[in-house]
Amino acid sequence: MLRLVRLGSQRSSRYGAMKGEAMSDLYELRCRECGKTWGNSPKSFCEDCFSPLEVSYDYDSLGKKVRREDLAGRTFNMWRYRELLPLAGDVTPASAVGGTPLVASRKLASHWGISNLYFKNDAVCFPSLSFKDRVVATALVAARRFGFETVGCSSTGNLANAVAAQAAQQGFDACVFIPADLEPAKVLNTAVYGARIVRINGNYDHVNRLCAQIADRFKWGLVNVNLRPYYSEGSKTHGYEIAEQLGWRLPDNVVVPMAGGSLITKIAKAFKELTTLGWVEAKPVKFFGAQATGCSPISDGVKRNLARFEPQKPNTIARSLAIGNPADGPFAIKLIRESGGWAEDISDPEIVAAIKLLAETEGIFTETAGGVTAGVTQKLISQGRIGAAETTVVCITGNGLKTTDAIAAEFPLAEAIAPRLDAFEAYLDNQFAAAAAAK
Ligand SMILES: *Cc1c(COP(=O)(O)O)cnc(C)c1O
Ligand SMILES: [Zn+2]
Repeated sequence: MLRLVRLGSQRSSRYGAMKGEAMSDLYELRCRECGKTWGNSPKSFCEDCFSPLEVSYDYDSLGKKVRREDLAGRTFNMWRYRELLPLAGDVTPASAVGGTPLVASRKLASHWGISNLYFKNDAVCFPSLSFKDRVVATALVAARRFGFETVGCSSTGNLANAVAAQAAQQGFDACVFIPADLEPAKVLNTAVYGARIVRINGNYDHVNRLCAQIADRFKWGLVNVNLRPYYSEGSKTHGYEIAEQLGWRLPDNVVVPMAGGSLITKIAKAFKELTTLGWVEAKPVKFFGAQATGCSPISDGVKRNLARFEPQKPNTIARSLAIGNPADGPFAIKLIRESGGWAEDISDPEIVAAIKLLAETEGIFTETAGGVTAGVTQKLISQGRIGAAETTVVCITGNGLKTTDAIAAEFPLAEAIAPRLDAFEAYLDNQFAAAAAAK
């Protein structure tokens, strides 16, 4: 639990000197628009042109430091790609994060009439059951390097779970900010780790705006605010794993759920890096973005060929994707368009149907965001945008146990019976009678 005494002592209008400035870094922050470099510090915007910063690497030196063959002896989790991540010095964090299955689909692929379909299953990501574990892992390395004792985030749910779990494990205080109406399971999955939860009367975009002010005022590491460039690098490992699990090949298509639009752009960055390093053969990959119709600023921007998306007020059961003003929206639109891909969105009933279909055919229970991705994949196939023989990877990013409220009405409890054989036989007779009546 966050110790309140620290609240006062950490209040500050400026960051003090930061610990751990290592001269040997092979990475630093660079402005995505003007290209100016800013070293390494807890900062997410260029002070010259106010564009977002991202971590850039010295790939020549990296290529000499690590070869693809070096990975063979390492455990299968995200740290096997440690040289390609912004880790201070040669420190590799001890806890396993990532390393999730790439499931080759059989039943759903044939149901949809295609042959090379895979599900990258971050519903079972360790430790908190969503891909957000990956981004928090790299953000907390940065938080430690910069000397933060308190970490936090603005969250649509999964990020709060991941921050709370890893903060507990690593001895940070955690203070997370969420919209007041989040799914109960996601709130509980944060509280149980001892994190302080601040519920905000407003949607995610209100929460995020408040967090930008808090990051300015307090000396806290807010993973998706002042640590955002380091946070988003963690998403690359979802892409590295896909390429490695395909036998060091890139797929033809990836279908990615979009909230802030960061994950999809970082999978693209991962594929590009592997190509630059010569670890995979260069090839065009089409990027497909998935959103819920009730919050679809990015897919709307792609479909209407807008230069910039129009912000929306979210209204969907896919609350982990409910960001109406996505920070990386313009980059996601550009990527999707230039890759020759597309973006689509589906309704809430279609999301529920897709969750059930994925569970019944592949044995994967995903949350609403995964329903969005699976349902949008089905739509893209029916539109002919995904070819039957192409290799397609669908990114499943979170676990169904976190959003049971969204599908509970589909599965009303049957009446209980007595623990006797005659009761079971009567039960069966009733079932047959009901089935016959329904015909
Ligand atoms: C946050 C989140 C996403 C999307 O992430 P962005 O990088 O913000 O686009 C996708 N799926 C789940 C389950 C998430 O929690
Ligand atoms: Zn700039």
